[in-house]
Amino acid sequence: MNFQAPKGVSEYIPPRSAIFEFVREQLCAPAKSAGYRYMELPVFEDTGLFARGVGESTDIVTKEMYTFEDRGGRSITLRPEGTAGVMRAVIEHGLDRGQLPVKVFYSGAYFRAERPQKGRYRQFYQVGIEAIGLEDPLIDAEVIWLADQAFKNIGIRNYRLELTSLGDAESRSLHRKELLKFYETLDLDEATAARAKLNPLRLFDDKRPEMIAAMDKAPVLLDYLNEKSKSHFNKVLQYLDALEIKYVINPKLVRGFDYYTGTTFEFVHTGLGAQSAIGGGGRYDKLMSELGGQDLSGIGWGIGVDRTILAAEVESVIPVDLGNADLFLIPLVTSNGDQKNIQEAAMRIAVELRNSGKVVELAFGDRALKGAMKAADKSGAKYVVVLGENELSSGQVELKTMSTGQTKSVRISDLINNI
Ligand code: AMP
Repeated sequence: MNFQAPKGVSEYIPPRSAIFEFVREQLCAPAKSAGYRYMELPVFEDTGLFARGVGESTDIVTKEMYTFEDRGGRSITLRPEGTAGVMRAVIEHGLDRGQLPVKVFYSGAYFRAERPQKGRYRQFYQVGIEAIGLEDPLIDAEVIWLADQAFKNIGIRNYRLELTSLGDAESRSLHRKELLKFYETLDLDEATAARAKLNPLRLFDDKRPEMIAAMDKAPVLLDYLNEKSKSHFNKVLQYLDALEIKYVINPKLVRGFDYYTGTTFEFVHTGLGAQSAIGGGGRYDKLMSELGGQDLSGIGWGIGVDRTILAAEVESVIPVDLGNADLFLIPLVTSNGDQKNIQEAAMRIAVELRNSGKVVELAFGDRALKGAMKAADKSGAKYVVVLGENELSSGQVELKTMSTGQTKSVRISDLINNI
């Protein structure tokens, strides 16, 4: 019996897993540099948290959640996104009672029962951040910068930031009335009408060509913003200009969650085909109170690690030597020599270099030199050293640069300064 991974999961094995580690680290780095703190949360939660948090009108809740009963008869769901769990934890542990804003970042696996295709998986990976408890538009700009900077640090260029505002409750209620009036002029099928009733904005997200055409003349929220919402949004745009972050305003942008309010955005890569969103987020000013906490606002994003990797690969910006050793050290095994002695010496040299931060691979076993050199070549290590009786007694080795084939004589004690 040969087992296979479940359908549609994304997994990373060497050597590509080094790219995964690299990209995930790069996506977290700007958040760390801005004082956001790390959070590690469970991959499953009470089903009610997501039904409530993500919203009953969304595809995620209606058809994509991995929900099951645990042994105690509780309804459990594998997390389809990160924000609801963070809010749950912030409320449960009282983080919102301390210094505001609460600024956190996290990374991990998320689960949605979607139809798998390139860039769309049933288990996928996200890095996310949240900033909770601040209305200041400056935090909106900071949050967007954290994502933009992460993409730039990786070297990704071919993306655009799409942005809109879903306004405050007053603006949304004004718009909602007009939108519902507009829907009366359309001949909506039952299911679509039902979705529109749960969240009228949801129909902007409908990918069917006839719906896209029908929504062409729909009133957009951006035209219904009251002064307060408009002023907030304009300040966000000013700050983005000051940060030299380019954006396009897309008044029809809707995200797959019901909790968004105010500033809402998505990063779209131009080289990925159908699954082009590499990250997205926005404000959720009612989510915390909706989940039983204080009435605090928040803003955050989730970036898809899998799709960021695809984008970086499309743009060929991944460093080529990720995960490769600095040095491949070969203890030379001869038929008459003292093999144990040489192997022990090699081990000591490797340990010392590793403890100084170098990545050192050892050749194992009693393979002939030719085989060991082949292994060194395959490993992608930058340098190779062969350690035999002569080298050990003279304290001097030949350091070979693998890319050029050039060698140079170096004292063993001085290897650290040469690799
Ligand atoms: P969302 O949580 O839907 O806003 O998604 C945030 C980001 O996660 C998206 O922009 C994608 O990059 C990524 N993402 C969402 N769903 C999937 C999926 N099924 N497979 C791979 N990546 C995904």
